[in-house]
Amino acid sequence: MSLPKTSHTIAQGWDLHCHSVYSDGTATPEQMVQTAASLGLDGIALADHDTSAGWADAVRAARSNHMPLIRGTEITADMDGVCVHMLGLLYDPENESVQQLFATTRQHRIERMQQMVRNLAVDFPITWQDVLDMVREGEQTTIGRPHIADALVAKGLFPNRSAVFRNTVNRASKYYVPIISPDARQVVQVIGQAGGVSIIAHPGAIGRNARLLSDEQIAQLAHLGLDGLEVHHRDNNAEQQQRLTSIAHHLDLLITGGSDWHGTGKPNHMGEHVTDEQTVQEIIRRGAIGVIK
Ligand code: AMP
Ligand code: FE
Ligand code: FE
Ligand code: ZN
Repeated sequence: MSLPKTSHTIAQGWDLHCHSVYSDGTATPEQMVQTAASLGLDGIALADHDTSAGWADAVRAARSNHMPLIRGTEITADMDGVCVHMLGLLYDPENESVQQLFATTRQHRIERMQQMVRNLAVDFPITWQDVLDMVREGEQTTIGRPHIADALVAKGLFPNRSAVFRNTVNRASKYYVPIISPDARQVVQVIGQAGGVSIIAHPGAIGRNARLLSDEQIAQLAHLGLDGLEVHHRDNNAEQQQRLTSIAHHLDLLITGGSDWHGTGKPNHMGEHVTDEQTVQEIIRRGAIGVIK
């Protein structure tokens, strides 16, 4: 469901895909919750990359703003060479396999980012400390390419993150280094073991990947316990949304929507895509931990 992009809209539904300063968003979890409240959203999910570190702040803000909150994470994964982002919602954050998964990915991310900085330093005046200076929550923040972009913007070399992505840190760039990621099959299983709900984020995002997950690959994940597909996302074009809707119906998967809001770090508007109440209630029913009200 698409919504007009004015701040006056009373958005119906839940935005199940938002980022904060605990990963590559520019807003605190509290600012995220306040933005959701000002838009009149029915609820919001925090889904920072590869961490649950922002959950406690988000819970406090949700309670004081009376904004329903689903706690989640966008987990970096790989399936036979395709980069997969998996939304894990309402899982038990104490689960050891989950904690191990995040710790490993976050360590790989740091090594990968340091290598990218070494590559970039050949042509740009950038150091690892410049990147760390862009990080808002210290070691709790999951570092990604947007923090490199912020460092280059801070030096006046580019106008904004998007310009850096267009020119310098995208997948095709000579400076790019891939992240070593867990297998998407393993991620579905770990989230399932931790009692969570797993949803493939933007599965039709051509442009992020040379190849998308095939129907067969999605079916394989469904047989391992995948719960849903994020059909409504700006990176899935109309043709992909149609394809994904049909796959979801065939495999009895939930259909969700989210904005992938990153504060001012991306042009995506909170609430531009949402998930309907009935689907949200089913997600809450399946989850190991409750919704915050
Ligand atoms: P990484 O996790 O380090 O691979 O970096 C990927 C992240 O960069 C994604 O999660 C997006 O949030 C962000 N990103 C991708 N493209 C852009 C863009 N054009 N402008 C700003 N952020 C972007
Ligand atoms: Fe991101
Ligand atoms: Fe993503
Ligand atoms: Zn995202």
